Amino acid sequence: MGLFAFGQNKPDFSIIFPPAAYLLRGFCRISGNGRFAGIMYNSAPDTYQQRSLDELRPTIEAHRARLGRKLVILTHHYQRKEVVRLGDFVGDSYYLARCAAEERQAEYIVFCGVHFMAEAARILCRPEQRVFLPNLYAGCPMADMAPMDAVIDAWEEIGGKDTIPISYMNSAAALKAFVGDHGGLICTSSNAEKAFTWGFQRGKRVFFFPDENLGYNTAHAMGISDEEIIVHNPADLSRKQQLTERTRVVLWKGHCHVHTNFRPEHIAHLRWRFPGIKIVVHPECLPEVVQQADAVGSTSFIVKYVDQLPAGAKIAIGTELNLVSRLADDHPDKTVVELSGQSCSLCINMFRTTLADLAYTLDCLGQTNEIHVEPQIKRSAYLALERMLELH
Ligand code: SF4
Repeated sequence: MGLFAFGQNKPDFSIIFPPAAYLLRGFCRISGNGRFAGIMYNSAPDTYQQRSLDELRPTIEAHRARLGRKLVILTHHYQRKEVVRLGDFVGDSYYLARCAAEERQAEYIVFCGVHFMAEAARILCRPEQRVFLPNLYAGCPMADMAPMDAVIDAWEEIGGKDTIPISYMNSAAALKAFVGDHGGLICTSSNAEKAFTWGFQRGKRVFFFPDENLGYNTAHAMGISDEEIIVHNPADLSRKQQLTERTRVVLWKGHCHVHTNFRPEHIAHLRWRFPGIKIVVHPECLPEVVQQADAVGSTSFIVKYVDQLPAGAKIAIGTELNLVSRLADDHPDKTVVELSGQSCSLCINMFRTTLADLAYTLDCLGQTNEIHVEPQIKRSAYLALERMLELH
């Protein structure tokens, strides 16, 4: 069994790879000598990109052996399989932030993920530790949906002593600092409900950004009705704020383009085609998808959910493709499929980090791809992250 087959009942739609392959072709490029040179926005030089995985692995393993505990490689669940296999830790953004805060012996923290994650590690680790992001082009489009000046404008419209700002981990360091300075905290998809509860203990309402869907799903899970929620859309210049005495949650109009691919009709189709199938989705999915799933949770939750189901179980997962594919490999006794089957759930930003990037970063350790955060921003952002770490 695996990602593509349901035993004898092969799905009548193709699972993900054909469209993914087309998409990736758009990101490939040919080097000066005409050879395939890897993915565009690969930060390693061509000499690295032209090496095979089998050539790159020994380079990385040699650095790991040489540096021992001085080096720690953190890998997000959405990274390519070959990157995850060479990491010391794999997890969601909450778990990896904790690793960065607790790995006190490591001199070098290499974060295989996207930019905001490496920034959070930089903020949480000791000043003498150094943090590197193997591919500096790996950003998060959702994090970019909340620019600093737009958030400050919104805060001036809706903020105040009764409002507690909560930022999703997917945000720039300066926004985390803003939240820290205004008595708020950071959350991830694994602790959003606890963070909202923390906010309601200190104010009448929370102002959550940038993911509208995680905000809706969290509020709904807490019994908050749509009438108590308003959405701030910074692109709508004619907006009139509807803030009333009843408003408990103000959300930002932002989303993850990977998780909003999943639709209720995908769930309906799979339930019709494969009775008994379990559907588990990430809370960045649309509320109408979350409402129809059997379970919802962070990437770590999804990993545990698949682990605890018995052999023979069929599971469709609404999250990023690399994790789904790895779970299918790790559970050959179960059938694990990606939920949509039609659209592309690959996060191209997570996909940007290659073994070539990792090998190059380690070969030039200390001279390239280092993440810095200004001391003043670091102090305030640390406050907001520390409040999150204290929630658990
Ligand atoms: S999966 Fe979505 S939220 Fe996560 S890094 Fe990619 S674009 Fe950002």
